[in-house]
Amino acid sequence: MASARAGRTPRTGRAPPPRAARAVHPHSGRTDRPMKISRIETFLAPPRWMFVRVETDEGVVGWGEPVVEGWAEPVRAAVEVLSEYLLGQDPARIEDHWQVMTKGGFYRGGPVLSSAVAGLDQALWDIKGKRHGLPVHQLLGGPVREQIRAYAWVGGDEPHAVRDAVTAQVEAGFTAVKMNGCGRMTPVATRAEVRECLLRAETAREVLGDERDFGLDFHGRVSPANARRLLPLLADYAPMFVEEPVLSDYLQALPDLVNASNIPLALGERLFTRREFLAPLQAGVAILQPDISHAGGISELRRIAALAEVYGAQLAPHCPLGPVALAASLQVAFTTPNFLIQEQSIGIHYNQGAELLDYVVDPEPFRFHGGSLLRTDRPGLGVEVDEAAVRAADERGHAWRNPVWRHEDGAFAEW
Ligand SMILES: [Mg+2]
Repeated sequence: MASARAGRTPRTGRAPPPRAARAVHPHSGRTDRPMKISRIETFLAPPRWMFVRVETDEGVVGWGEPVVEGWAEPVRAAVEVLSEYLLGQDPARIEDHWQVMTKGGFYRGGPVLSSAVAGLDQALWDIKGKRHGLPVHQLLGGPVREQIRAYAWVGGDEPHAVRDAVTAQVEAGFTAVKMNGCGRMTPVATRAEVRECLLRAETAREVLGDERDFGLDFHGRVSPANARRLLPLLADYAPMFVEEPVLSDYLQALPDLVNASNIPLALGERLFTRREFLAPLQAGVAILQPDISHAGGISELRRIAALAEVYGAQLAPHCPLGPVALAASLQVAFTTPNFLIQEQSIGIHYNQGAELLDYVVDPEPFRFHGGSLLRTDRPGLGVEVDEAAVRAADERGHAWRNPVWRHEDGAFAEW
């Protein structure tokens, strides 16, 4: 556990917190003095996650999930640096804190800082909701839907396992699944590699029929040349989307790939600000997949959704993470008109040693009904974190690292 408490010497140049306005809150009778952030702690939690706990001087506690998978330790260090600023501040001033945290360090952007800000932003929204006794989606304008369609992961790295895995998720009630579209792929694929990719799609469609959907994640493993070849061949199987058809490094390839087939293209798990989503939208990407724990939290995710709305594009948040990240994503989804579908990690093949439900007191908000999660009026993010489980997890910790794949000749291959 890493912890920071109020009382450190403030950095020079920091605006002092606004003076407390003394007034009686009309509904509670309490003194409406601003709360202060009094303590910030981070916890590493298997399989590859991190939680942040933000405590206030009134005892209201908010939770967030600041993490980049494989880079948890640098994100933890970034949270500690940001805590120097946040301690002693009023947690209600979320937007002002977001501006300072993202811009006040002179250097900005990137996955580590954006993820640290994201987790803290989630915790501040959790505090605001709990303080007012409202779910965050009510604070964001209220619900536009009552349930959130989600998809289940079926791996896909092993094509022979696809049929059984898809069947199991259909039997569990899911109406959509996602799988990796290929394993390691050479930059100019052999016909056999192309066939293996098509076989996954063909198998999934056979099991799912026409009433259910599947997404294919190219995972950045597919070169622009391979994507150009694969997309028209996959169109017959009508995937719901192809995700990261190429790495987001190759944005210039997107217009060509959008026009290569009628398959909606999706991307965004490795983009971190609304600014970075503009070029993909202009290129015709149909579905944005920001991760609420990487792309600036609730505050930035809803702005990315609004930007997508301008282009008629949909929001399908990335979320192979834990319960706080999923709960935060759901809060945005309940109030976002152009929301499409939610990723979630329950049963995902990456989860080794711990599961999402291990860290919650009550699993009910994450109980699926026909593949969807239902809206509740629980305050804040709507999830009660099992603090004892989180503290125990941090004792074990983790050092999850991204696998390193190589081509047959020994050269680095995208995972
Ligand atoms: Mg992906």
